[in-house]
Amino acid sequence: MIEHAKQRFEELKASGLLPSPKGVALAVLELTQSNDVSIQNLTHLVQTDPAMSGRVLKYANAAHGGSLRHIASLAHAIVFLGIFRVRQIALGFSLIDHYRSGACAAFDYTGYWTASLATGITAQHVARQAQCPPDETFTCGLLSGVGRLALATAFPLEYGELLERGLPEPALRAAETERFGVDHAGLSSDLLEDWGLPEIFHQAVRYQELPGEAPFPAGSRVQALTAALHLSARVGQLLNLDHAQRWEQVPALYHAAAQLGLEAHELPPLVEQVVKEWQDWGRELRLPTREFSDIRTLLSSQPQEGEMAALVVLPMRVALVAHSAQLLRTLADTLDAMGLRVSLAADRDGAQRLLRDTPTDLMMVEIPREPGRGVELLRDLRATEHGRQAYCIALVPPDQEAEVARLMLAGASDYLLTDFSEAALLARLNAAQRVVALQGAVRAERESTIRGSGEWARSNRRLMQEALTDPLTQVANRRYGLDRFRQEWSFAGHNGTPLTCMMLDVDHFKKVNDSYGHEVGDQVLAQVAAVIERVCRRNDVVFRYGGEEFCLVCPHTGPTEARLLGERLLEAVRKELFGKAGQRFHITMSIGLTEMDKGMAQVEALIQRADRALYAAKAGGRDRLVAWTTDLPA
Ligand code: GH3
Ligand code: MG
Ligand code: MG
Repeated sequence: MIEHAKQRFEELKASGLLPSPKGVALAVLELTQSNDVSIQNLTHLVQTDPAMSGRVLKYANAAHGGSLRHIASLAHAIVFLGIFRVRQIALGFSLIDHYRSGACAAFDYTGYWTASLATGITAQHVARQAQCPPDETFTCGLLSGVGRLALATAFPLEYGELLERGLPEPALRAAETERFGVDHAGLSSDLLEDWGLPEIFHQAVRYQELPGEAPFPAGSRVQALTAALHLSARVGQLLNLDHAQRWEQVPALYHAAAQLGLEAHELPPLVEQVVKEWQDWGRELRLPTREFSDIRTLLSSQPQEGEMAALVVLPMRVALVAHSAQLLRTLADTLDAMGLRVSLAADRDGAQRLLRDTPTDLMMVEIPREPGRGVELLRDLRATEHGRQAYCIALVPPDQEAEVARLMLAGASDYLLTDFSEAALLARLNAAQRVVALQGAVRAERESTIRGSGEWARSNRRLMQEALTDPLTQVANRRYGLDRFRQEWSFAGHNGTPLTCMMLDVDHFKKVNDSYGHEVGDQVLAQVAAVIERVCRRNDVVFRYGGEEFCLVCPHTGPTEARLLGERLLEAVRKELFGKAGQRFHITMSIGLTEMDKGMAQVEALIQRADRALYAAKAGGRDRLVAWTTDLPA
């Protein structure tokens, strides 16, 4: 099955029908595929395309998030991003530029890119949850739905017909496979692979729409990335919808966020930030983005508990407000007989009190004869806690029927003339009941997702954290540390950017255990980890290598800079007070440092050198840093 799909992909690719980067972007892709690409060559090439130069600069500045001085030169931006990332940026933006429109009438090209842009930006923001580098996750998000564009490009008429059937997601994929031999998710994944994105990305993209079907082990990085992309695509969709449709997306959005370990309160600020950057990039890329003044309201209008209980429990609770004793009595009797729970109020003050204290699904309000008083009354009742949400039927004297339009504007949901027939009353109640039930169901579902998601999110986050971190020191564990290390290694290899590695080992740690006990020893390890994290920079990767040994990986860092960082670490540990009150003591540590060099095949070789240097530091008297040289054994 997979083999067949691969073959189909190769056929499509050979036909030249699939989207592909063009112009300077294509040249960038080709140049960066060769082994001896230099920053200088790449800078010259990118410079020939002013738009791309601008975007690379803008991207580099956005990516460091203000932690550095403004990057003004293109060469500097390329060094900062690395050749590998520049390649991906060129790829993404070139596709946007060349596939803004096309022959498939049913495919909304602009909408596709607008949503994809938001997906990419969200993915960049949640990359950390999946322990992935933000820049690449951006490109991956941006292109995660590219299989749709590919089908629209390769088969404009046939795919158009298929789209017009408006099939839901799984059915659409089945129909695509039947018609074209591939579905859009598989095609997205194949294209990303073909364009050289790392394996974890094209794996995740394949299951991004249906993360529940992914075969990835729970707690694995690829599973976390799948969940991250799923949430990102949901945000992309949300931002591309009309206001009314948007509301319906909210429960699924919270659900997706919780799956990634994000709690409900973390979602609105995230989406707000995405919207800001999305509008900014949208202007840059000439993609229309919408205004979203209401995003926080949309995402944070979580209903209250009491309110919910009132809405989902039918039969309805009715507040009957009538100044005519006759109307009050007959209507109350009728409603009572129907099994509705009725509370009564004879005037405005009584009604306000009632609606302040009693959960109400439906209010029926007799309209006074004095001109304008009805509108006032409805406004007052709508301003109460329970009156705000309730369905409202205005009871209108027949000679006031002309007022109905104004009453509806003032907050009535429907009206009934006071000389009503039983059939008319029943029809009104029926309509009310439908709306109340619908509201209740929709809001109950939404609320249970939101409320339940807090705990669910926390437990997901815990599981994810447990899989990734060392419980004693709260830095990355060895498995994930090595995983990240390999990733940085491969980027540095592609980029020709420097990378250094340090092994850090606490001096005479056995003595700490012997003198103060194992428990204090544990605390010291946690404290050492905290000191290392405090001194390190954002892009450095720290993990517990084992026992009282830590490993530090510094991307974009040459030996001189790394040595300074290492000395700062030694100094910070030297100065720190360890132990507890009454039993304070100082400790030191030793560091072995080494730089990646071209001939090395694997991270293990680098670790071994750092270890040798560490051994030399111990032998030389401890509390010092030694860098590996050829004099030391390899
Ligand atoms: P050196 O300066 O040569 O590194 O001396 P050292 O005593 O630190 O080195 P050695 O490797 O001989 O001993 C390390 C000790 O660290 C032995 C082990 O009991 C202790 N240790 C390892 N992991 C833990 C831990 O998780 N908690 C505690 N309390 N001790 C640990
Ligand atoms: Mg030690
Ligand atoms: Mg040791």
